[in-house]
Amino acid sequence: MNDGKKASKIKFSYSSDDNDITAATSVSEEEEDSAMCDQTSADYYFDSYSHFGIHEEMLKDEVRTKTYQNVIYKNSFLLKDKIVLDVGAGTAILSLFCAKVGAKHVYAVECSQMADMAQEIVKANGFSNVITVLKGKIEEIELPVLQVDIIISEWMGYFLLYENMLNSVLYARDKWLVNNGLVLPDKAALYLTAIEDAEYKEDKIDFWNNVYGFDMSCIRKQSMIEPLVDSVDQKQIVTNCQLLKTMNISKMTMGDASFTAPFKLTAERDDYIHALVAYFDVSFTQCHKLTGFSTGPKSRVTHWKQTVLYLEDVLTICQGETITGSMTVAQNKKNPRDIDITVKYALSGRRCAVSRTQSYKMR
Ligand code: SAH
Repeated sequence: MNDGKKASKIKFSYSSDDNDITAATSVSEEEEDSAMCDQTSADYYFDSYSHFGIHEEMLKDEVRTKTYQNVIYKNSFLLKDKIVLDVGAGTAILSLFCAKVGAKHVYAVECSQMADMAQEIVKANGFSNVITVLKGKIEEIELPVLQVDIIISEWMGYFLLYENMLNSVLYARDKWLVNNGLVLPDKAALYLTAIEDAEYKEDKIDFWNNVYGFDMSCIRKQSMIEPLVDSVDQKQIVTNCQLLKTMNISKMTMGDASFTAPFKLTAERDDYIHALVAYFDVSFTQCHKLTGFSTGPKSRVTHWKQTVLYLEDVLTICQGETITGSMTVAQNKKNPRDIDITVKYALSGRRCAVSRTQSYKMR
């Protein structure tokens, strides 16, 4: 999943092609629907998922969509004759994959206006008898069945947790999933590394210190607080990549998405460090062969890119020296879709000694 406001700012591109991906089946084109044409810019502002653009970007993210397709098509034994709940169905793509391999019934729940399109798409592809589209929030809809065998969802946001849709999946799991039922994907992990990024820090952050000769450094403070979603060149990575947090979607509670995790990043060469970089993996461990994808800087780029957190200090680090610290991630109290991140870090090196706490907000 993806946030519309950010998506419109971010240009989608692929950097490399190292994933083993098989061809996708095409969904036939749909006619224009009058309901969608009634949308105004105000509707889109508050509900970006009603616009097809964001779904186009997600569908064209082949790392994302083809991984789900492979999980379903190559593991049809998991889905055959099962009742599936698709949480946040969007265009119903995941529901269609499931129906195609013989799911008994699929409930496709979507809260945006895209639900109307999903309904038409299901019909146009001849799956009306297998897929029921339910328009509404998962927390508010009534499901015609008491239990489902499988919950599938693409809930991941920037920095894994932005938008907080994971809570909706956990809500659905606790309400409807049968004992020992399947959650797809069932594992997620957040990682941290550190990069050299002098050029971009200058361009994005220090720019505000002197704008055509004027001091706009009050905006610099804001630009430091907002993590930047962008793709990082793997050549910029200076340290190891450290696992921060793993999540078991089948078992975790909503509270587990707020945490403090320690980290220790060791420099692999002499360099300067300007930012920490966070990214995530997801995996489907119940597949015949472990399947998943990474959004890390060493993998093919996805629409999630990576999340860059600039540091106030430039760290002059020597090979073998370590940055130690911790990252605290919490849901914002006023707006639960936003995330507050606090990073404590310290380096006690031969050429640089720093210890600081910085706060960030994903919003
Ligand atoms: N499954 C689709 C769409 C993923 S994006 C695909 O893989 O392409 C996530 C979707 O979940 C968005 O369309 C959004 O509108 C929907 N959504 C988010 N929170 C929801 C909730 N609480 N109830 C129902 N739908 C939700």
